[in-house]
Amino acid sequence: MALTINYDKCINCGICIEKCPFGALKMEDNKVTVVDGCTLCGACVRVCPVEAISIEKKESNKEDLADYKGVWVFAEQREGKLLKVAFELVSEGRKLADKLGEKLSAVLLGDNVKSLADQLIASGADQVFVIEDKELKDYNTEPYAIALQKLADSEKPEIILIGATNNGRDLGPRLSAKLKTGLTADCTELCIDEEKRLLLQTRPAFGGNLMATIICPNHRPQMATVRPGVMKRAEEDANRQGKVIDFGVDFSNANIKTKIREIVKANKQTINLEEAKIIVSGGRGLGEAEGFKLIEELAEVLGGEVGSSRACVDTGWIDQAHQVGQTGKNVQPDLYIACGISGAIQHLAGMAKSKTIVAINKDENAAIFDVADYAIVGDVYKVLPELIEAINELN
Ligand code: FAD
Repeated sequence: MALTINYDKCINCGICIEKCPFGALKMEDNKVTVVDGCTLCGACVRVCPVEAISIEKKESNKEDLADYKGVWVFAEQREGKLLKVAFELVSEGRKLADKLGEKLSAVLLGDNVKSLADQLIASGADQVFVIEDKELKDYNTEPYAIALQKLADSEKPEIILIGATNNGRDLGPRLSAKLKTGLTADCTELCIDEEKRLLLQTRPAFGGNLMATIICPNHRPQMATVRPGVMKRAEEDANRQGKVIDFGVDFSNANIKTKIREIVKANKQTINLEEAKIIVSGGRGLGEAEGFKLIEELAEVLGGEVGSSRACVDTGWIDQAHQVGQTGKNVQPDLYIACGISGAIQHLAGMAKSKTIVAINKDENAAIFDVADYAIVGDVYKVLPELIEAINELN
């Protein structure tokens, strides 16, 4: 769909410019012109006294869809460092691109970030589009969405993958609306229907009770967000060669309403479960908030982070930032120790891909033991102090 102005009818009254809530109309060379930011809300159509503005529906046809080629991964960086999810998506994107026989491109936005491109190529990207600008230094919805829209309009990717980080969850819907295509959020599995060249986007639905596979058959690009920790990161190959392509975006006309003046970090210890190599998680089996002291102690002696089941978050024993699972964090540490956690499907959804799982539970039939590599049947209040003591002796 597109906003169309019939200049034979337009009387240049400027009412549409005044009423546009997004500042997306401007008078340029004595003509009302659509600039960045139009959401097709229709406010201008309604106020135009001479019916000169309309929203034209344009159905994609098969030839249009065939114009779109290649798989893209949004390579999110913060403070000049690529997030782990960027590498996970490049690894997954590589498989999808190979199935389609297309190129895999990573897209890097920021200010002075070009040097990161080599890592993306080493991880599997054939090429890296780099858009550098002061407006892109820190994540800001409007400039990031505008930059990606301009690049996508120019290069026409078939698929765009974005990490479902806080920023990615904000960017994905904004970008898909700008590109007038669909978006499947929080995918846990992606594959290709090779015959139809469709991205099969699978995600939990109905509270995790069934897995839904979603397709986007009539619009391009096909867009999906994937939660950090869901996809496996492949080995890097420093000898891989790829292209780095600069793409310029002019923001001078972009009408960016939000300016980042300062980033103030929360004054609490940062919990980085997604990047942690060791996680010790506590569940309702701890019986009370105090029980987390033992979990913290074990995490500390092992140099790990503290995780939790949702039950403990819901009862207020621990902050939501620690929650592992379908509605919490997806983690893939080398070692996950589940203490007093039953192993509900929603919890397993966030940690079952951990390399080694140790579970401590007093119920020998607890579902957590089905995914555990080491099962300790016992009371957490007996097992944990002994474990901590034994590790301390080793250290
Ligand atoms: P429980 O299921 O109550 O298990 C406690 C376990 O502790 C039991 O197995 C018991 O045998 C054991 N135990 C008790 N005392 C001791 C002791 N002294 N020593 C050793 N073991 C002991 N859950 C998540 O974790 N993450 C999510 O992201 C999440 N998302 C959800 C999304 C939806 C839409 C829904 C409906 C649910 C979600 N849940 C999630 C909740 C999930 O279904 C479970 O309710 C929750 O995981 C249970 O937490 P738990 O294992 O700590 O508690």
